[in-house]
Amino acid sequence: MGHPIGPKYKVRVAAASEQLSGSRQLTTACLIAGKSLNMAGAKTVIIFDFDRTVIDDDSDRWVVENMGLTHLFNQLRPTLPWNALMDRMMEELHSQGKTVEQIAECLKHVPLHPQTVSAIESAHALGCDLKVLSDANLFYIDTILKHHGLYRCFSEIITNPTMVDGEGRLRIFPYHDLASFHGCNLCPPNLCKGLVIEQIQASMSEKGKSRVIYLGDGRGDYCPTLKLDRGDHVMPRKGFPLWDRLLSNPSLLKADCHEWSNGEELASILLQLVEKVREE
Ligand SMILES: [Mg+2]
Ligand SMILES: [Zn+2]
Repeated sequence: MGHPIGPKYKVRVAAASEQLSGSRQLTTACLIAGKSLNMAGAKTVIIFDFDRTVIDDDSDRWVVENMGLTHLFNQLRPTLPWNALMDRMMEELHSQGKTVEQIAECLKHVPLHPQTVSAIESAHALGCDLKVLSDANLFYIDTILKHHGLYRCFSEIITNPTMVDGEGRLRIFPYHDLASFHGCNLCPPNLCKGLVIEQIQASMSEKGKSRVIYLGDGRGDYCPTLKLDRGDHVMPRKGFPLWDRLLSNPSLLKADCHEWSNGEELASILLQLVEKVREE
């Protein structure tokens, strides 16, 4: 099956590799310059949502649209929670004889902004602790990060777990055990990102002074941003649901807020914040 975005993708890859060689030089310079700063500044933990934050699309929808599942998806959408619906979509692909390798191939075409790639590499090289916190799933995120050479930059990927069963079907499971409701009504039952942030904060406080920078776009990113402390930073994507919610009642937020629209802005704001935290 010919991929509808083939030619456009090739252009993106060329741009990404040019960007990468530039960012590697920058990274080396930062590593040398950053050695002494590294010990003085607060530890920076950067938490990235994945869909429409790290990648410039939604990985679940990408697979649905590019693997011919749109009709079934629309039919079942009102009847199943999102996480269960995605597992059902994988069942459908399996019943059509589509393999896990074909799903991985499809995911490799998801667009990722070259500046986002270089910002992640630079932040990692500067000694920040990078994590992904996402309501997509582990198979999708692993596949995409490995394809772009970014997997090594993240210390943790916190998301809905996956497995390939004995028949070769990809299974997607909820992050939280559905038998015990997490009690948060801002979040879907399968994942409360706020609860995860609280666990990260608890383990960070044992390791000394640290700051969180949280990047996200969606409704599910609202709960965790409310858990951030004074001195932390949230980077909501402008015009997306998280940004709308934060604007509607800014007084609920303790962290500083910095909006961004695209990969260029994400990169420049993120690296400025990393520098700022290191100087604190
Ligand atoms: Mg998102
Ligand atoms: Zn929550």
